[in-house]
Amino acid sequence: NTPSPVPGGIGMVRPPFDINRVKGDFPILKERVNGKSLVWLDNAATTQKPKLVIDRISEFYEHENSNIHRAAHELAARATDAFEGARKKVQRFLNAGSPNEIIFVRGTTEGINLVAQSWGDQNLNAGDEIILSHLEHHANIVPWQLLAEKKGFKIRVIPVDDDGQIRLDEYGKLLNSKTKLVSFTHVSNALGTVTPAQTIINMAHTAGAKVLLDGAQSVSHMRVDVQQLNPDFFVFSGHKIFGPTGIGAVYGKEELLNQMQPWQGGGNMIKDVTFEHTEFHKAPGRFEAGTGNIADAVGLGAAIDYVSRIGMELINQYEHALLLYGTHLLRQVPGLRLIGTAPDKASVMSFVLDGYTNDEVGQALNKEGIAVRTGHHCAQPILRRFGVESTVRPSLAFYNTCADVDALVAVLHKLRSAKR
Ligand code: PLP
Repeated sequence: NTPSPVPGGIGMVRPPFDINRVKGDFPILKERVNGKSLVWLDNAATTQKPKLVIDRISEFYEHENSNIHRAAHELAARATDAFEGARKKVQRFLNAGSPNEIIFVRGTTEGINLVAQSWGDQNLNAGDEIILSHLEHHANIVPWQLLAEKKGFKIRVIPVDDDGQIRLDEYGKLLNSKTKLVSFTHVSNALGTVTPAQTIINMAHTAGAKVLLDGAQSVSHMRVDVQQLNPDFFVFSGHKIFGPTGIGAVYGKEELLNQMQPWQGGGNMIKDVTFEHTEFHKAPGRFEAGTGNIADAVGLGAAIDYVSRIGMELINQYEHALLLYGTHLLRQVPGLRLIGTAPDKASVMSFVLDGYTNDEVGQALNKEGIAVRTGHHCAQPILRRFGVESTVRPSLAFYNTCADVDALVAVLHKLRSAKR
């Protein structure tokens, strides 16, 4: 029941689950675009939602809707149970030690800003250094630059090799007693590189630095165990793991969270307020000011249940085989240059095609109902490292098949033969 390469190379990949049933779980995959069946290969930008997530959100609004925590009535109890139940699902999914370590936010971007403006503002000062990697999404660059301007600390950058993998030797040289934080991505959204997170985290801790791991591109492709990996913070977005937009989570070690000042003030996050002084709740309450995105948190819980039932190990195994299959086929397209060739990759197959702009390739694919992202993918520094301003970026999820990849590659061959 495992993916089975055919003799002699990369062959058809057999999904280790009922792929027709999985595809059937996602109503939008039946959509027709330009008269063709939709082939969704833009999963790194956002993933599609199973019917069960869509239904769970409707059910919340039809039967449970209320604000949470505040009222004495039945619906407040239902909404609170659903919301706190979703927090526990995120906790179990990441293997965090306590639900108090899970803070709901809008997504990865807001999560990184929370850590920057709370932990960063309290702990980073002139003379300090933080380390990012060259692979980072703008969401893990700009919040630190904004803070560095205010506080005067330095940002150092770990270079990557020509395949797009982090240079651990160079990283070792950057770490020193001034390093207060290492903030890096688990999987690159532009190249697909899976970074050696465990090693990077261990080295940071040995140097006495804290670690933020950006999980936006990893949670939907591999099992994440925050107790084993041991970052101080881990952030992800619900919409990249088959859940709704506008919801995500920050995992933080409980002791650390309770030492951090709130970054936003308002209702819900306080124990007691006078005009002279406010006493805050402990985490997670102190970081959840105002009415949160209750329904979508519940929807995220349903998405986590869904992928957990299929199993992250099976998802990872299948996607990996599909990525090898796709990479193999793309390499046979004349004039195609893959950007990002690290041995350890997930989901993403960025490329440029001789004789065509990336937009032209994207439009030709769209005509056939195939959705990919073209552009800089909010990761300009790493694309420039490879001498390009943008790429075409197909990206896989577990509902994709060899047939989806074949459809992509057929269009590329057609484009190339038109140039001969
Ligand atoms: N970090 C990485 C690696 C990403 O891929 C993304 C989104 O593409 C983000 C951060 C930002 O995520 P969001 O836009 O959901 O906040």
